[in-house]
Amino acid sequence: MQDQVNTLRAQFRGDLAKVLNVQEVDQLKTKYLGRKGPVQALMLNLRDVATEQRPLLGKLINELKQELEHLCEEAFNGFHQAELAKKLDAERIDVTLPGRRRLVGRSHPVMAMMEEVLEVLRAMGFCVQLGPDIDSDYYNFEGLNFPDDHPARDMQDTFYLTSRYLLRTHTSNTQLRVMEAHSPPLRVAMPGTVYRNEEVSSRSHVFFHQIEGLYIDRGVSFADLLTTMEELWANLFKKKLQMRFRPSFFPFTEPGVEVDLQCTACGGSGCRLCKFSGWLEICGAGMVHPEVLKNGGVDPEEFSGYAWGMGVERLAMLRWGIKDIRQFPNNDMRFLSQF
Ligand SMILES: [Zn+2]
Repeated sequence: MQDQVNTLRAQFRGDLAKVLNVQEVDQLKTKYLGRKGPVQALMLNLRDVATEQRPLLGKLINELKQELEHLCEEAFNGFHQAELAKKLDAERIDVTLPGRRRLVGRSHPVMAMMEEVLEVLRAMGFCVQLGPDIDSDYYNFEGLNFPDDHPARDMQDTFYLTSRYLLRTHTSNTQLRVMEAHSPPLRVAMPGTVYRNEEVSSRSHVFFHQIEGLYIDRGVSFADLLTTMEELWANLFKKKLQMRFRPSFFPFTEPGVEVDLQCTACGGSGCRLCKFSGWLEICGAGMVHPEVLKNGGVDPEEFSGYAWGMGVERLAMLRWGIKDIRQFPNNDMRFLSQF
């Protein structure tokens, strides 16, 4: 039986020398030291040995068992360390490598311009109200005093979805909604996207953004419109600029005006931006037509108001010297990342 112990030891060492990784160490351990392994078999065979030999042989088998366990553990640790070192080596971080730049999101120039205007208007006491992009003919045209034969109602200029519904052609569609929902005094800014069935060029697009302003109270006069306009442009362009009103016609105003601003680029002496006139068309405005007030449930005998609408793309083009409105919806990162 002593020979069997020695043979087993030699056999184990031979097998251990061929082991390549931790999994194989585990397999070897199970093979020799498991419940059905040769060491356990020797233990069981002790029963057949003469009583006086049992203590000595039992000791030998126990020593073999401990030796094998120790060798397995040693081999396991060795392979484990080696594998860990290999893994760490493969995942090594070179702290001297330059960092990867993350793409940071930013506001679209049109949205940034819009937010800037709204910030100025909020400081002037205007609250912000949104209206629907898809609206009925009533809110976009009829309620705003557009006659049936007005050219803007033509299919050529407006995207009709059905005979009754259309894509709003101006943010003025929110005016009546505000009047219906609230009583004067009203001081509201209404931003949003508008749609026109126009030929796309460097100066016009089928969709762009407007901000509409509306103020209704007792005794609101044309002079109030003038001072509000002055303050708005001064706050926005951070300097006092000359302004002029030219008579104009909008069905929902009476009277209506076109507002020109002293050229922001040349200060009025004439340049390419202002086509050497010294003036920039900046927005349309006017006193709210009494019919529109009536449609909104506001008594024109008691209240009066003014409104104006301006193009956000146009302001952004002035602010950043952008020559082509088509650049805004292009999603060209080379263009957008400049702002
Ligand atoms: Zn100019």
